[in-house]
Formats: sequence, structure tokens, C-alpha cells
Amino acid sequence: MPNKEALLIIDYTNDFVADNGSLTLGKPAQACEAEIIELADAFFAADKFVILPTDVHRKGDPYHPETKMYPPHNQRNTWGRELFGNLKNWYEAHKENDNVWMMDKTRYSSFVGTDLDLRLRERNVKTLHLVGVSTDICVLHTAISAYNLGYNVMVHQKAVASFAEASQEFALNHIKFALGGRIIE
Ligand code: ZN
Repeated sequence: MPNKEALLIIDYTNDFVADNGSLTLGKPAQACEAEIIELADAFFAADKFVILPTDVHRKGDPYHPETKMYPPHNQRNTWGRELFGNLKNWYEAHKENDNVWMMDKTRYSSFVGTDLDLRLRERNVKTLHLVGVSTDICVLHTAISAYNLGYNVMVHQKAVASFAEASQEFALNHIKFALGGRIIE
């Protein structure tokens, strides 16, 4: 089986991206929308995988570490957990295809407590392209897991965003210099 590639669109939901999202990054995240759609189209057209790992929470979950740290966000079956903007339409139009799937995650890393590694291995995916939010939290933690599991990591700079510019810079530098990832400008 030939080596394959996958695009991971991480946490691009209303709560993290929309102006009135409960844990929003706002404008920097919204500025990624067109680039994310363009990449999704390109990957889909090239018969590559497009995967949407998406944070999910239960209301007031007393056992989840994030409950104490953040306002409630990305609760299942709420507007806040719906994909933001055109990505919602893109996913609706492509979700019946075997190469496209949305998946739950409950921690920052897309690999923790999920079957992502298993599904990537089944498909002989060796290289992951990361986009979405937040660069210094869920994207970074996913990149660290991917590094530890032996994947090649590429991050598309115009399609990732953080809460603060300093965090963005730190995360991209860390991915480049400590994880051997490639930053695509
Ligand atoms: Zn969360």
C-alpha cells in the first residue's frame, strides 16, 4: 500500500472561532477559514484523507480537568460544537465519503483516548498536515503525539491560530525545532 497523507482540521468550531463562541480566539481564527477550505478541497481532490478531530464535553462534567479551567464549550449537540462557517457546509457535502470523517476527542491531543492512530495505520498514513485551533494547545498536543508515534508532521501557518501572538510563535517554533515538523507558509 502506498504511503498516504491526511489533513487534520482540529477544533474549528463556533465556540472556538465565532465572535460569540464561548471560548473564542476570534479574528485570527476566522482568518484561517478560506485556507482551511482550500486545503480540504485539495486533499479531497487528491484522494487523501480529511479528518476533523473535534473537542466534545458533557455539561458540567466534574471529572474533566478542563471544567475548572475554561468556560463551558463544545458540548455535544450545541451550536458551539458545530463547525464554523463554510467548513460546516464543506463537511456536510463530503461526509458520506470514506476519506472524510469527523471524530470526537476529549483531550487536547487528537490521539488521546481515540482510535485515530489505529485508523491512520490501517490506511498507511505516514504524514499528517495540521490546521485549526489553537496552535499552542490542541494543535501542539496533537503534533507532540504524532511525533511520538512516528508520523511526519506539517503545519500550515495560514490555517492555524492562537489566543496570543506569542503563543503562536512559541508553538510553531517548538513544532519546527523540537518535533522536526515542517511549517508551510
Ligand atoms: Zn475542551
